[in-house]
Amino acid sequence: MSAATVLIVGGGIGGLATALALSQVGFSCKVLERRAAFAEAGAGIQIGPNGTRLLRAIGAADHLRGQVGSPSAIMVRDGKSGATLSTLPLGGWIETRHGAPYWTAHRADLHAALLAAARARPQIEITCGFDVAHIDQGELTVMARSADGRSVTASSLIGADGFNSAVRRLLFGAIAQQPSGRVAARAVVAVDENEPAAFARNVGVWLAPRAHVVHYPVRAGREIALVVVTQDDAHFDGWDTQITAASVLEQVAGLAPPLLALLHRAREWRQWSLVTTPPLAAWSKGRVVLAGDATGPIMPFLAQGAAMALEDAATLAHAYERHADVPAALAAYETARRPRRQRVATTATRNGQIYHLAGAVAVARNLTLRALPGTNVMAGFDWLYGHQIP
Ligand SMILES: Cc1cc2nc3c(=O)[nH]c(=O)nc-3n(C[C@H](O)[C@H](O)[C@H](O)COP(=O)(O)OP(=O)(O)OC[C@H]3O[C@@H](n4cnc5c(N)ncnc54)[C@H](O)[C@@H]3O)c2cc1C
Repeated sequence: MSAATVLIVGGGIGGLATALALSQVGFSCKVLERRAAFAEAGAGIQIGPNGTRLLRAIGAADHLRGQVGSPSAIMVRDGKSGATLSTLPLGGWIETRHGAPYWTAHRADLHAALLAAARARPQIEITCGFDVAHIDQGELTVMARSADGRSVTASSLIGADGFNSAVRRLLFGAIAQQPSGRVAARAVVAVDENEPAAFARNVGVWLAPRAHVVHYPVRAGREIALVVVTQDDAHFDGWDTQITAASVLEQVAGLAPPLLALLHRAREWRQWSLVTTPPLAAWSKGRVVLAGDATGPIMPFLAQGAAMALEDAATLAHAYERHADVPAALAAYETARRPRRQRVATTATRNGQIYHLAGAVAVARNLTLRALPGTNVMAGFDWLYGHQIP
């Protein structure tokens, strides 16, 4: 494909990564972001080697390295007794195995790193306050129009506008979101001077009937990100519904005292509903394609949301580089990404079920986890962390 301008709707994790990846193969990118300014919200994001490898490739890793946590292991624990069920190696073990580290980051730091890298590239233009509300396609062009009547034209458009994607709705009509029956609450706490290593230097996953808790270091180890997932059909719009600390603690009453002591330290909690959408028949139409969460949300129980958006970005750039024709490039991208996203989504959903088991099956799960060496468990994820974009 000859050098041309690509419109990218959404200046989140996937949109900025896509702009960076495309700019490296000769394309100019115009990123259109709905929000008036980047005051990035969110809390923790885990980035496995399949994601950090791509952050390096697109030139964002150096902007992020000083801000991340580099956990030594994932410690899987029984949420009630606190007993360790499995220690899954990260740190040097996973970096040696896959040639890239396992990082844990505050979403704001990941976003700031991508933004700094994008702002340093003259081929990338970022416009905030542009809420894409219409898309018109011609034979060789596509035009995005904002809700307030401005327009921008280019040779193709990538909808990286998140799980409530306007681009998806404009292409394929409204899609009903179904509650998954899970709600997540998040917070961050400052690291104590006497913080146990289990909290300061590891990912912790605590399993209990109908709930689980995940924590990991962020902000160069100065803070710990917390996520509490419970079973609930409630629906909240967006990422940022407030919830009181008391309500969160009530939902996890009875879990192990050291974990509760950690959760008690958090003051400000935000919650969001974990939703599912039916699979799309296609990801593209003409010169417009979807990427990242816009293709359909993935449950967070494999910690792969950001890494999947990074993989989409790299795959799009590879397809644009190889195919002169826009629809052919978009088709090649979808062919490469669909099975991979599906496998990750299925594994994440299954993990979520395993995490919340109760009674005899939970006992069997715990026995299995105790019996398996952690290195064997992690070797079973080579397909995930060792993934290479050609
Ligand atoms: C505010 C916020 C907080 C989040 N917090 C967390 C968290 O704590 N933990 C976690 O695991 N994940 C969080 N996520 C989700 C996480 O970033 C994504 O799951 C993942 O990184 C995939 O990225 P994405 O680029 O597909 O979507 P996102 O990172 O969600 O980016 C989508 C972008 O598109 C923009 N947009 C939406 N509609 C339009 C439109 N019509 N026109 C122009 N722009 C538009 C949005 O403002 C946003 O910047 C959060 C996302 C957001 C937006």
